[in-house]
Amino acid sequence: MSALSANGDVVSVVLAKQTKLLYGALNISLIATLINSCVLIVVLWPVVARELLIGWAVLIWTLSAVRWFVALKYHQQTLDQQALPRWHQYFATGVYAAGIVWGFAAVWLYPLQGIGYQVFLTFVLGGMAAGSLTSLSYDRKLATIFLFLLMVPLVIRVLFSQEQLNIAMGLMLGYFCLMFVLTSNRIGKNIEQNILYELDIQLRHKQIKQSEHRNEVLLQTASDAFFLHDLKGRFIDVNEQACKSTGYSREELLQMSVSDIEKGADEQLLMEMWPTLKAAGKLELECLHRRKDGTTFPVEVHIGPVEIDEHSYVSALVRDITVHKEALESYNQAKLEAQRLNLAKSRFLSHISHELRTPLNAILGFAQLLQLNEKDLNELQKMNVNEIHKAGGYLLEMINELLDLSRIESGKLELDNQAFPMTEVIAECLNLVRSQADSFQVKIIERLTDAECIIWADPVRTKQVILNLLSNGVKYNSHPGELTLECIMVEQKWLRVKISDTGEGIAEQDLLRLFNPFERLDNRPNIEGTGIGLVITKLLIEAMGGEIGVNSHKGQGSVFWLDFVLCKEAVEEQVKPIHGL
Ligand code: ADP
Repeated sequence: MSALSANGDVVSVVLAKQTKLLYGALNISLIATLINSCVLIVVLWPVVARELLIGWAVLIWTLSAVRWFVALKYHQQTLDQQALPRWHQYFATGVYAAGIVWGFAAVWLYPLQGIGYQVFLTFVLGGMAAGSLTSLSYDRKLATIFLFLLMVPLVIRVLFSQEQLNIAMGLMLGYFCLMFVLTSNRIGKNIEQNILYELDIQLRHKQIKQSEHRNEVLLQTASDAFFLHDLKGRFIDVNEQACKSTGYSREELLQMSVSDIEKGADEQLLMEMWPTLKAAGKLELECLHRRKDGTTFPVEVHIGPVEIDEHSYVSALVRDITVHKEALESYNQAKLEAQRLNLAKSRFLSHISHELRTPLNAILGFAQLLQLNEKDLNELQKMNVNEIHKAGGYLLEMINELLDLSRIESGKLELDNQAFPMTEVIAECLNLVRSQADSFQVKIIERLTDAECIIWADPVRTKQVILNLLSNGVKYNSHPGELTLECIMVEQKWLRVKISDTGEGIAEQDLLRLFNPFERLDNRPNIEGTGIGLVITKLLIEAMGGEIGVNSHKGQGSVFWLDFVLCKEAVEEQVKPIHGL
């Protein structure tokens, strides 16, 4: 009953069924009424007042005609759920009226003399009661009320008649009446139960049909091809996509087997695969499928074991991965090409930087010679020589940075890691940056609490990275401004060199681009730079096993820090090898 009880309309469905059965049995009970009433009138004609007989006959026949007419209307209707209680009510009213009229017969038509006539009337009424068991028991309430209306006046009439057997007969009739009620109740209950069972079966049947339909639609409209085959690979069922992808019709596929469309598959292999598949529950594989025109295409297959009615099958969902494979192939090619080009670019940069450095060093050398003999030069010449020296120095710095970057990218940079205290390096960096800071009116504040700690790094590269951050701190500071250099130990593992400035800071969205090569966030033309200092700094500190970090907000200055590996840690740990960008 579970499926049915979930349905809230069950009461009205049962009512509809009961009403249908009641109206269905009405014609027979009307015929019985007609025959019984006729026989009764004929038999009682000599012993009962005629007016009473005729009056009762008119009553019962009119009522029967009305009930027949209502039944006719009921059968002509296309029943809607809402009209149902009304039709049931009409029927019930007809039954109650018939019960009353038959009950009246026991009082009005009861012959005053002649035991034979009295027994006959009792017999006819008893027959009507027995007949109601079959025609009215579809609704227990109706049957019970009808039986009471019909039998109770008879029982009373018999009990109060003048005959000697009256009490015994009256009691027997009362007993019959009770039996009839109990029997009709039992029949009614069984009928209700049967109706419910029938409804449940109908509902389940409908649900199964709906679910089958849903599965069929899903299967046929699926974007993946579906195959169901037996253990030898013979196809049992396929969906529309299977036909589309292979180019065969459904009928053709159902005559074929897996080995006809899958490269390398054969009956033996498929049979051997079954135990593994059954144990694993599902398997995934990639293979080639062959179309009807002979062309092949790569597919990803998800297979699973299926057991129906003690027969074993394999279900296979097949996805065409041609596009995916092509995309992967072109991605790999593009990646290789990009790596090749990057290497070529690094080689070119390295080569050109070397080529540029030689003549540049000569230019710088001659400029220095001229500066040494400045007494032979007039003011304009002196200025020009200074410009040559300054521009040459800047160019050399840029070339050196480019050379560093290309060396790192091509994995050719060699580090000379060793243990040393930070103090000296910091002092050297500060010396080098101080004149630049003075000229930009930037005050340097030192908080070198743990500068004496021993770190594990390349001293030259350590100087380079700190100097780069210090120089940025001066360049991108406000003028006048402040630059704070701190040296603190972190988690007993790192020595942190922290450089904070009071400059414009960096907007949050720009922080992501900060370590991109050649990316300059500041548009001020008078600030010299190439946009690769921070990239090199990041690569170098990471190559030495450390890390770089930054915290900055627009208008609130910036804090950059470098974490160097403390010596005891460095000795135990392998320092990371350097990687390209
Ligand atoms: P550059 O040679 O341009 O200084 P960097 O790689 O050192 O190259 O820095 C990249 C960019 O990051 C700079 O152009 C600048 O816009 C921004 N930047 C670096 N340091 C700071 C800082 N301390 N404050 C604000 N902006 C900075």
